[in-house]
Amino acid sequence: MTSIVVLGSTNMDLVAYVPRAPALGETVTGRAFRTIPGGKGANQAVAAARAGAEVAMIGAVGADDFGVRLRATLEHCAVDTDLLRTVEGSSGTAHIVVDEEGGNAIVVVPGANGTLTSLSHGDEALIGTADTLLLQLELPLPVVVEGAVTARRLGVRTLLTPAPAQPLPPELLAATDLLVPNEHEAAALTGLTDPRAAAQALLRFVPEVVITLGAAGSLYASRGAEPVTVPAPRVRAVDTTGAGDTFVGALAVALGEGRPAPEALAWAQTAAALSVQREGASTSMPYRVEIEAAFHSPHILEVD
Ligand code: AMP
Repeated sequence: MTSIVVLGSTNMDLVAYVPRAPALGETVTGRAFRTIPGGKGANQAVAAARAGAEVAMIGAVGADDFGVRLRATLEHCAVDTDLLRTVEGSSGTAHIVVDEEGGNAIVVVPGANGTLTSLSHGDEALIGTADTLLLQLELPLPVVVEGAVTARRLGVRTLLTPAPAQPLPPELLAATDLLVPNEHEAAALTGLTDPRAAAQALLRFVPEVVITLGAAGSLYASRGAEPVTVPAPRVRAVDTTGAGDTFVGALAVALGEGRPAPEALAWAQTAAALSVQREGASTSMPYRVEIEAAFHSPHILEVD
């Protein structure tokens, strides 16, 4: 079993479904409301655990009801939460309005996530036991950098999802083994809209890049080799929320188990294709048996 540590965020998503988003000063009546445990870190942890890894999460929740539920959700998915702190104040929240066309507007309040600014000795020891450290950009940047640098020093593979998009400090890039942006993040980082060109530009800073391309699949690039595009299974998508996090969690599992990169991408895309056929983020993430079944019999997934 491959071992993965996630250093990342937990958020409670507070989702209002509305006919249209309100303008400033306006009130609209929504038709439904849901609270959904999320945060990119927690989502990747759940995805990796369901895909078959031993997973531990380093992060912080608030001393509120959301914090209790966020921790319980991870524990329910067999994610080790011994180093998930409970801190004074509110948990991270994402306030989301979804309109009838599926468009959304989001306010994120980091809450407890914003208090995690440095690692403890316990965190470092835990990172040292992992095959892979998963990082995103929803925690304060200094702790993300510290996590990557620590993992690099301890010989642990680092996989960074550069979301939400922002300029990356050179020391973070220097400690990243595999960078996994989506098309928009790759364009924001490089100023290049062509994924192949963006991947080439990113290879100057990191040895391996995977750019996710939504329904078109993903692109793998490494230094000194031609980039490879792996097409995604053709499925009827009902909700693509969390598809990227499902992909990253499953990719880390497949690479940690020693699958070659193109096969690992195909395996991760099978997981993501299963998730887009169901509603929600963590709620839509597939289990290893489902991924294996669909990977070996792709006709289970494909639409005409
Ligand atoms: P994205 O973050 O939109 O680039 O999506 C991440 C991954 O999810 C992609 O690389 C695909 O493997 C998968 N994915 C997203 N949207 C779809 C879709 N409509 N059909 C099949 N797979 C999808």
